[in-house]
Amino acid sequence: MKLDTRVLRHLTQEDWKVLAAVEQGTKNHENVPTVLIEKLSRLKGGASGVHKSISALAKASLVAKTLHAKYDGYRLTYGGLDYLALHQHAQRKQVYSVGSRIGVGKESDIMVVADDAGVQKVLKIHRLGRISFRTVKANRDYLKSGQAGSWMYLSQLAAMKEFAFMRALRDEGFLVPEPISQSRHTILMTLIDALPMRQISMVPDPASLYADLIAILLRLAQHGLIHGDFNEFNILIKEERTPAALSTSTSTPSASTSTATSTSTQTSSAQPATADQITLVPVIIDFPQMVSMDHVNAEMYFDRDVACIKRFFKRRFHFTATQPGPFFKDAKKTVGKDGARRLDATAEASGFTKKMAKDLERAIALEKKLAEEKAELKKESKYFGADSDEDFHDDDDDDDQEEDDSEDDDEAEEEEGGQAKQQLD
Ligand code: ADP
Ligand code: MG
Repeated sequence: MKLDTRVLRHLTQEDWKVLAAVEQGTKNHENVPTVLIEKLSRLKGGASGVHKSISALAKASLVAKTLHAKYDGYRLTYGGLDYLALHQHAQRKQVYSVGSRIGVGKESDIMVVADDAGVQKVLKIHRLGRISFRTVKANRDYLKSGQAGSWMYLSQLAAMKEFAFMRALRDEGFLVPEPISQSRHTILMTLIDALPMRQISMVPDPASLYADLIAILLRLAQHGLIHGDFNEFNILIKEERTPAALSTSTSTPSASTSTATSTSTQTSSAQPATADQITLVPVIIDFPQMVSMDHVNAEMYFDRDVACIKRFFKRRFHFTATQPGPFFKDAKKTVGKDGARRLDATAEASGFTKKMAKDLERAIALEKKLAEEKAELKKESKYFGADSDEDFHDDDDDDDQEEDDSEDDDEAEEEEGGQAKQQLD
């Protein structure tokens, strides 16, 4: 689903009130009765004003009429929820314009936005259920289990949880984006000027980068946490350049930090002493699936994260660590040691109930399973009978992260006279 902001500017104050009323009504009604919308929106103009707004909102697909319902009513669409969130970020003066979509994750859309000073930020819009929606059977099974109409709610939980962990990790000194604000199913955070490790073809010192990543996993464990999706898409590799003059004196990258000499200065080998130092710094993202080291399946999650890094380093950088592990049982002994503050209760501290945590975990697991099945099917059809071992030129996995609706992605933005940015007023 794309975020089309063109309609935003046409909405009146009344329209916003009515949209907010539909959202409010959604808490107790899947199909919000029109009479309730009238009551909740408290418009001075009365019913006729409300009807006018409803038709404007329906035209923009922000609300939708529930077909075959027993009574006249509307439901909020994902588009409506997007707008309410965007409107709130705008009112907080955090977002002024919306730029292009830079990423389509399995369960999210990633947009570049900017505030009125032109500072670029990242808006992550959670879209849990995106994959399940397409698999009719999976969705039907899910609905049967009493989760009807709750994908929006689950996406909001994902955003709440991710925001809370980003804040806690950041406060603890982990390198993660700075969380700026959260509204509904969206999070606003700083834009990291870095590529996902997935897009890096080679590094000068894989052993050192590997050591850094394992150190991050172990440090998380010490704080009681497992990332749960520690893969090459969720690790951004930032290049920090230290001018040669400084690198020899003031800046001493830690022993376990990957350093490289920049290619440009490498070629001018006449002055090796003045070469800039480039340090590769991993920045970790994507936290809705974080689990506690006390989780019943903690060992599986921990081992999976470790295996993911090992597999990637072997395939991409042809690097295999000489040391086995790290092992869960050793990491478990370090939880809370050396004064490490436990962060695994972070979600609870932010208002998460056990039920919310469970619902979210279940939904994420279902989405992951479906995504894997989809990737498997795709691979089978593509490489039927062939060795499907990945290499750098094989972009198959990248495709898996893409949405099928990509053809119509940028059209909306281009219609605006080729402008990538759209203002929100
Ligand atoms: P998902 O949960 O859908 O996987 P992610 O949070 O992992 O979403 O983001 C998807 C992609 O968007 C990432 O792989 C990365 O390329 C990009 N991205 C996400 N957050 C940022 C950020 N703060 N700065 C720069 N790029 C980002
Ligand atoms: Mg991700």
